[in-house]
Amino acid sequence: MKTAHVTGLKCVICGEIYPADNRYTCPRDGIEGILDVQYDYDAVAKTLTRDALGVRERSQWRYRELLPVDSTSALPHLQVGFTPVYSTPRLASALGLTRLFLKDDGRNPTSSFKDRASAVGVVKAREFGSGIIACASTGNAASSLAGFAAATGLESFIFVPEHAPEPKVTQLLIFGAHVLKVKGSYDDAYYLCMEACEKWGWYNRNCAINAYLVEGKKTAGLEIGEQMAGEMPDWVVFSVGDGCTLAGAWKGLVEMKKLGFIDRLPRMLGVQAEGAKPIVDAFVNESDLHPVTARTVADSIAVGRPRNWRKALGAVRDSHGSMVAVSDAEILHWMPLTPRLSGVFGEPAGVAAIAGLARAREAGLVRAHESALAVITGNGLKDVASARKAAGEALTVSPELEELAAALKREGLV
Ligand SMILES: *Cc1c(COP(=O)(O)O)cnc(C)c1O
Repeated sequence: MKTAHVTGLKCVICGEIYPADNRYTCPRDGIEGILDVQYDYDAVAKTLTRDALGVRERSQWRYRELLPVDSTSALPHLQVGFTPVYSTPRLASALGLTRLFLKDDGRNPTSSFKDRASAVGVVKAREFGSGIIACASTGNAASSLAGFAAATGLESFIFVPEHAPEPKVTQLLIFGAHVLKVKGSYDDAYYLCMEACEKWGWYNRNCAINAYLVEGKKTAGLEIGEQMAGEMPDWVVFSVGDGCTLAGAWKGLVEMKKLGFIDRLPRMLGVQAEGAKPIVDAFVNESDLHPVTARTVADSIAVGRPRNWRKALGAVRDSHGSMVAVSDAEILHWMPLTPRLSGVFGEPAGVAAIAGLARAREAGLVRAHESALAVITGNGLKDVASARKAAGEALTVSPELEELAAALKREGLV
């Protein structure tokens, strides 16, 4: 295989380095022994230059040297990554910040950040000769995998908790995935999927244990590095479930610094929901992780037993960052405010980043003169029911101008 820039897989616990083959976790440390892809950055720097980037395609594959795929592998045709960054001054002032940027990852092919990982996942499945790929997900990784499997002609088995939002389950079905609704939580679905992959030899697209997939998530950090090069914000904000997203993005930012694309790094702010905040607790108490029963409106971050908490906490600490938890009420408060002040409509887990930023401002963690970039990780139409809770009601009128006038007057609109 021609993965020349990849030098191995390193265990996050014992530090042992293994060959970059079809393995998921460290044989010594078992399921906790998550692996991290290692690169030869000197080799990468030879071809990944500013000039080279200037003429490459506007997708995450522009950073191919920093992705663990064979340089001759066919790539999925769906356009993934290189999502836009917007400056949003009205939302910034509502949060009491000088500058705020939103990176709209709802613009990905299946409308969430997860496409970054799925795109790498389907390439790896093919490289390892697997025609079947599986994952467990709170919803977005599932719909994303289903979409990328459909695009590349792979068969997919998807495990979701039985209460996953209907639009996400609909996406799965429309893409032709075999959908298994598990009676239980995301954590139950996760373990069942792991066992099934082992039993039937399916390729496992669970980011938490598949190091290659996190590299896909890393591209968000690479992009932020490239897109914000001249004005890197003080803070980069992500909502956190398993922790792979924040950890992956941080790795990308560090790599952009290593390669000389940026000269300073932002601080990472990780946001969890109050009903699912085991990583926040571990951060505050400087302890190991204690699993909880997850309960929050932000289904995409409803993870009671995060798998990638070590990497996520490492990223927050290394960046001199912080973590906060937000209530469902705070998320629902920012659900309509964020789109009304920015034009970007996020699902609850995406908006949680904004609610977290508000919380961090109040707590004095983020100060008024500082700037921030929040990644809106999923599109608002992914969870219409939650959006409707916060959106209010439409005015129903008969098709008569006079009645319209009366109704508008009643509402104080004219
Ligand atoms: C998965 C997801 C997250 C969190 O990612 P983790 O890697 O689980 O921390 C945040 N927002 C959305 C919309 C997601 O789908």
